[in-house]
Amino acid sequence: MGRRLDFRDHRRELEENRYVYAVVSRRARGLSIGVNLNPDKACNFDCPYCQVDRTTPGAPSRVDVAVLAAELEDLLRRTTGDLWSRPPFDTVAPEMRRVADIAFAGDGEPTAPREFPAGARAARDARDRLAPGVPLRLLTNATLFHKERVRAALAQFDDLWCKLDAGTEARFRLVDGTRLPFRRVLDNLLLVARERPIVVQSLFPAIDGAGPGEAEVAAWVDRLREIVARGGHVDHVQVYTVARAPSDPRFTPLDRERLEAIADAARRGGVDAAVYA
Ligand code: SF4
Repeated sequence: MGRRLDFRDHRRELEENRYVYAVVSRRARGLSIGVNLNPDKACNFDCPYCQVDRTTPGAPSRVDVAVLAAELEDLLRRTTGDLWSRPPFDTVAPEMRRVADIAFAGDGEPTAPREFPAGARAARDARDRLAPGVPLRLLTNATLFHKERVRAALAQFDDLWCKLDAGTEARFRLVDGTRLPFRRVLDNLLLVARERPIVVQSLFPAIDGAGPGEAEVAAWVDRLREIVARGGHVDHVQVYTVARAPSDPRFTPLDRERLEAIADAARRGGVDAAVYA
């Protein structure tokens, strides 16, 4: 799924870990613990702006949930112990020496591996025992919510951050690089948003120097409005753009002013929105 938003200064540490990593997030004002269920770097999207390095091979796809749980428990324990005395964490400002969140945000779509439900249960269990109050988040493209094994596992998470980068099928295919039907994503978002609030994450790049046209933004707002009108609860939308050099050089960051205008359009459509750039 899309990378988390604000890690331009990110440092993946704990290199010996297979699934659990940690980055310091200024926006979250603390340590953000990541869980990568996609060591094989496989994704059912192929976003041209993706920042996963697929030029080097991934690891085998099977997820060893016991190892994942052990890595997460070890890191959570260390956050109240020796972690902060070791490089690079010893450089972190004292007020940032806290766990801000635990997020399933890996090198592919986290709900796709068959171990997703067991991994989610293990993470929830570790969070409940060792870091109560720290939000457990899922960053997802929502393509698999219709599968019962995935939908049931969503209950383990406090927050669902769901990708919606487009308002039309054509734009969806262009920006997310997939032939999956756009309708499936929209239906899945509605399915879950009727049960609980979702956060929508929408990435708007410039493509060959041009941002999305007015009609595309209007269509995107319409999709959000449809979810709400049909009984879905969208907590808010996070509007953001390409952060670092993506795999396709035609995709570049959209300027702040345009991002703010897109967020304004969502607000005018009745959905709370904020720019993360
Ligand atoms: S959903 Fe897109 S950005 Fe996220 S990992 Fe897959 S290809 Fe990359």
